Amino acid sequence: MTHRHPPTTIAGALAWARAVLNEVAGSEPLDAPLLLAHILGCERTALLAHPQRPLTPAQFTTFCALVERRASGVPLAYLTGERAFFDLTLIVTPDVLIPRPETEHLVERALAWARARARSPRIADVGTGSGVIAVTLARHLPGARVWALDVSRAALGVARRNAARYDLAERVHLVQADLLGPLLGARGAFDLIAANLPYVPTSALETLPVSRHEPRLALDGGPDGLAVIRRLLAQVPRILAADGLLLLEIEAEQGERAAALAATALPGARVTVHADYAGLDRVISAEWGACKG
Ligand code: GLN
Repeated sequence: MTHRHPPTTIAGALAWARAVLNEVAGSEPLDAPLLLAHILGCERTALLAHPQRPLTPAQFTTFCALVERRASGVPLAYLTGERAFFDLTLIVTPDVLIPRPETEHLVERALAWARARARSPRIADVGTGSGVIAVTLARHLPGARVWALDVSRAALGVARRNAARYDLAERVHLVQADLLGPLLGARGAFDLIAANLPYVPTSALETLPVSRHEPRLALDGGPDGLAVIRRLLAQVPRILAADGLLLLEIEAEQGERAAALAATALPGARVTVHADYAGLDRVISAEWGACKG
């Protein structure tokens, strides 16, 4: 990629970047303005108001470097360091999976369930990554106490920054653990267990572009994609309250198998597979008390 005659205005830089990124599979029309707004420290819409504003050589050089990294496939969120989710803007680094809109579906189910209950819930978010589920639930459920667990210390560092960003450090407890780890002693103590665990089958990972940039630890679900979910299901009955709810994000083809595993792990639970906005199976819910006599 050469740019011998560097454009020096906002409009010129954007035109150059759009032409470069146009050729790149997976890039979006807003990538160029979002990267430039990030460098200039302004809103994307402010760029439109000042198209002839000159860029300094340093700003232009930085912009070129980011556009080239985007062109090589680095996700936009890792370049800007942020990702919008629900009504939040979360910090992300390459140590964590980038929050996906699909996960909003799980969050909405959790909120609806929690709001219909008399008691403020005690919640565990297993494999919290950026803290996306834990922080969003804590923010929208003022009485809730949330435990956010992850095996990755680096991921917990990001989750900590996100909890602090929304002033939730007191209600989001971060725990470094393999799945529920040290919480297993707290019998029946959790009203809601939510998890977006790694669920991509290992063989599918090789062909998935995301796996080149996002942490494998957050994606690799073993031979059939359900290995980590199975391990969690073995732990859940110990700490889920008798009238508690389990919510798991899953891959579209896993609906039936994941539902069967959840039904076996939580005898008597009402297990439901929910589709996302694209009509694909995306979340399993298991209400433990629902079908008890
Ligand atoms: N939804 C992610 C993807 O398909 C996978 C997330 C996960 O494994 N929990 O890229």
